[in-house]
Amino acid sequence: MMNPNVYRLTKSMLMCSSFGVGPLTRRIMKHYHTAPAPLVGTMKHNPNIQDEPEPFSIINPDLIVGYDLNYSWMNRKTYSCHILGSGMIVLKNYISLLGQVGMVNLCDKLGSGPGGFYMPRNQDGHTLRLHMMCFGRNWDPVTGYNNQCRIDGSEPPPLSYGFVHLAKIAIEDAQAHMHELSLMCPDTCIVNFFRCGDRLGIHQDCDESSDSLERGLPVLSIFIGDDAEFWYGHIRDENKYRKVVLESGDVLIYGGTSRLIYHGVKIIIPGSAPVSLLEATKLMPGCLSLTLKQY
Ligand code: MN
Repeated sequence: MMNPNVYRLTKSMLMCSSFGVGPLTRRIMKHYHTAPAPLVGTMKHNPNIQDEPEPFSIINPDLIVGYDLNYSWMNRKTYSCHILGSGMIVLKNYISLLGQVGMVNLCDKLGSGPGGFYMPRNQDGHTLRLHMMCFGRNWDPVTGYNNQCRIDGSEPPPLSYGFVHLAKIAIEDAQAHMHELSLMCPDTCIVNFFRCGDRLGIHQDCDESSDSLERGLPVLSIFIGDDAEFWYGHIRDENKYRKVVLESGDVLIYGGTSRLIYHGVKIIIPGSAPVSLLEATKLMPGCLSLTLKQY
């Protein structure tokens, strides 16, 4: 019987792991999967060693997430809750440090390669002051949802089941405080990175299907890194927007009657990220946001 924690390190699991792994693990995996072939042949002649040697891991298995959601990525027992209005709620400090580190590593891995982070343009041709990439369905401010439009013609990486599961658990936790929220099954994740000085102008999220919008299926955003000042309001009036500071690990959910709320990111507060996150990831100054939606 294989140790389930060790099993997570086999190559097939790694290729489809729910969230991905950190750089240290990847280095070790690369070494492990390129080095042992001759060793296996030798071991078959040794009657004391089984034919199928089990992988050996020296990495904390909590940092590696397989098909099943790793609950250590969420602070489900210690988070607090901040209701912003009807259908709009913040789960404060919901994503654990472990989860934040895993998401930073995953976004770095998928965002620094081909078809990764880019600075999109808006309908007017102006370049937005943020870096963006998508998992699952591709979305761009000009083309909307279109899997063919990535900057290098590639398709976006799939949205892993871990994020689908995380959205379900988080919304269920939110429903305990706000009954009007419905469950959704995300098929896209828009990842933004805001450097200090970057921002996202006030807009509505309304490119999703009419079914998704009419049902008010919630949008879920995870914030990691420096604090983000998030502005929102039900009408497009600069004088009436409210603001909330979203800190590393916070999850913002807006659905139901707030699904089409106007919102934007005004300010990234320099130097506000948790030191423990920076030490674990070397994340550059700024805020990483992951927004999960059902088209
Ligand atoms: Mn938005």
